[in-house]
Amino acid sequence: MSNASGKSSGTSNRRQRGIVRGAPKRCWCGSDIVAKNSMSEPNPGRRYYRCSYAARLRLIDDDHVFKWVDEALYDEIETLASKMSSIEQVVEHEKVCFARNQMDLEKEICERVEDVLAEAKAEAKSSLKKLMIVVLLGLMIVFGLTKLIGYDV
Ligand SMILES: [Zn+2]
Repeated sequence: MSNASGKSSGTSNRRQRGIVRGAPKRCWCGSDIVAKNSMSEPNPGRRYYRCSYAARLRLIDDDHVFKWVDEALYDEIETLASKMSSIEQVVEHEKVCFARNQMDLEKEICERVEDVLAEAKAEAKSSLKKLMIVVLLGLMIVFGLTKLIGYDV
């Protein structure tokens, strides 16, 4: 059963042999994947992944897994990079939320502190007023008394 599908896959383009991201784990036919060295003219010594079944039968122009190792690695790096950027986005979002929550909290604390301070100020003012009145009255009484006493003497 060599090349029974009749699909055209003339070039060694990875996209025509089934899209696999990263390193292929298994061929669609159920066979394991082996890594081999290319002996071809344009890619001497270049490593590639191949369906072990297709490799054993030395199939050419078939649909079984074929993928350059460097391209597979590049895919994996790309996948990691996109994962990283989505993680970064999540972290950035969390940061913004955290900062907003913190700001809200700080605002609330500030408002409460201001309320308490205003209350304390008002209380202090009124008690200060009372104290002033008492002191003034006291002074007036003392002055009055001294004057009275002065006239008497
Ligand atoms: Zn296969």
